[in-house]
Amino acid sequence: MQCQTVLPGTECTFWSKQGCTFSGNSCQTIVDECQGCERIVDGTIGQVCSVAPSPSRKWAAELCNFATHRKIEIQSIEAKVNPLKASKKAAAGKK
Ligand code: SF4
Repeated sequence: MQCQTVLPGTECTFWSKQGCTFSGNSCQTIVDECQGCERIVDGTIGQVCSVAPSPSRKWAAELCNFATHRKIEIQSIEAKVNPLKASKKAAAGKK
């Protein structure tokens, strides 16, 4: 159903006939780590995330998996760990 409070008119899975069913009956504003993300939108309570109702929870463990501004860091970390090359290096070192 469509949100009628924070992002009026936006389709949201948390909106029901009883209103917002998310904890606290509202989504929450973004956190510092979100700055620069393309998913930030302006809501009636301030800047909120268009895909995650609780940005602080998305960053609680580690990098938010929806973030658009931090993907390069993830790719560079993955690029550094090439299991094939690591395996070849390890095999060469055993000779
Ligand atoms: S996608 Fe993640 S980083 Fe981007 S605004 Fe939402 S919670 Fe913040």
